[in-house]
Amino acid sequence: MEFDPLKTRDPGRGLAHAPSYWAATAGEAPGDDGPLDGDIEADVAVVGGGYTGLSCAYHLAKAGVKVALLEANRPGWGCSGRNGSFSHGSLGRLAYGDWVKRWGVDAARALHGEAAAGYATVRELIAEGNIACDVTEGGYMKIAHRESRIDWLRDELAVLRDTFGANVELLDRDAIAADHFRGNEAFAALRHADAIGLHPLKYAQGLLRMARKAGAAVHSESPVGEIHRHGEVRVLVTPGGRVRAREVVLAMNGYGTEQNRATAGRLLPVLSNIVVTRPMTANEKAEANFVTSHMMSDTRKLLNYFRRLPDDRILLGNRGPLRPTNTEMDAHRTEMLGTIRRKFPALQAITGDYFWGGWVAITMDSMPHVATASDDAKLHYAMGYNGTGVSAASHAGRRLAERLTGENKIHPVLSRPLPRIPFAAFRRLGQAALFQWYRWRDERD
Ligand SMILES: Cc1cc2nc3c(=O)[nH]c(=O)nc-3n(C[C@H](O)[C@H](O)[C@H](O)COP(=O)(O)OP(=O)(O)OC[C@H]3O[C@@H](n4cnc5c(N)ncnc54)[C@H](O)[C@@H]3O)c2cc1C
Repeated sequence: MEFDPLKTRDPGRGLAHAPSYWAATAGEAPGDDGPLDGDIEADVAVVGGGYTGLSCAYHLAKAGVKVALLEANRPGWGCSGRNGSFSHGSLGRLAYGDWVKRWGVDAARALHGEAAAGYATVRELIAEGNIACDVTEGGYMKIAHRESRIDWLRDELAVLRDTFGANVELLDRDAIAADHFRGNEAFAALRHADAIGLHPLKYAQGLLRMARKAGAAVHSESPVGEIHRHGEVRVLVTPGGRVRAREVVLAMNGYGTEQNRATAGRLLPVLSNIVVTRPMTANEKAEANFVTSHMMSDTRKLLNYFRRLPDDRILLGNRGPLRPTNTEMDAHRTEMLGTIRRKFPALQAITGDYFWGGWVAITMDSMPHVATASDDAKLHYAMGYNGTGVSAASHAGRRLAERLTGENKIHPVLSRPLPRIPFAAFRRLGQAALFQWYRWRDERD
């Protein structure tokens, strides 16, 4: 049974990584500062050792701030070490056209600029830290899974190209078959040139090295329980000791539990599962013409995301079951292999080597939030990436660090506090109903 953040009080302590392809291929983990042992002081205490926390700690330490990062399990244990590996200029779950409708052209342009800056941040960090994380250059394609979805791609293309000036193009089904893969459910593709694939855990471990080298203390196996308020000081309690800090950054994203007052009732953790197949044989690869190095997802609301890995395995991810019991997870693994066989008829004999899940943090407005708690000016958070955190979390950590060192570049749409989820106690029921509806819509014209 997977840990469920809505049902558990804490995220565990010192747990091993999920049994992912990434954990199996990351090599030896770099050292950290071990469990907190005794009481310490810091300018800023960061809770959570994923991209948000590590990037924030790195940028703060680089600016001369004394930082202590506290991670319940091990750096990269959450989404950051187990995700789908796509990095591009993405920011939340809305269509680009919806940004214009909701916030107007100027704000939409600024948000697109911020999304692109997030992608640039990832590339900069990789270059700055010389992080060997198996970067695959290529691009990203959003693929119409039914003919009726091509118009939607055209609308998105128009906004991206005409309003944002983005480097995008529309490919027809023949171009996809000739240059990327031969398969079903691929009627057209909106291709973004600026995107990479990377090894998510190696990237997280690179950030860990950078943060420590810059002077941040990174404590694994140190779950934060209570956070007490003593005037201007905040005291974070872990099993091995306390941290007294001037400011606190919460960076737990989908792995934060309902114990955290500032974010309780404001996130919907949704399980996303990934299957990684055995490597394709040379024949299978040739028959499927699966040569693309692009990251891809389809136009379903409950989307499938997929790519070819450098060793010719196929990675495919999609929304997991509502209840992560062993039985449901096993059934889902079988279903996902069925999805691969349906999409790529040449891969009928493909089998899975790795299968795992992780919690994506969904927000009410489908956007990330980089904000300060409404009742505590010393408590900040960055979370709710809606499945786009490789770039967005790396960048949010940086933006929060800039803010804490005196330069606020966070866009007002993103700096609003996380909106509350109405009737939050019944979140899973709402999710069940919504997913039923999406499932029905996704398979109709
Ligand atoms: C299966 C899957 C596929 C995904 N694919 C993609 C993708 O292809 N591209 C993309 O852009 N995004 C993707 N995402 C989303 C992306 O991985 C996340 O948005 C991003 O990693 C979030 O980083 P984070 O640092 O905010 O949180 P996390 O990496 O989740 O880190 C949070 C950490 O907080 C720790 N923690 C929690 N509570 C406490 C506590 N009380 N005390 C101390 N520590 C605590 C946890 O142990 C955890 O390590 C995917 C996510 C999943 C699950």
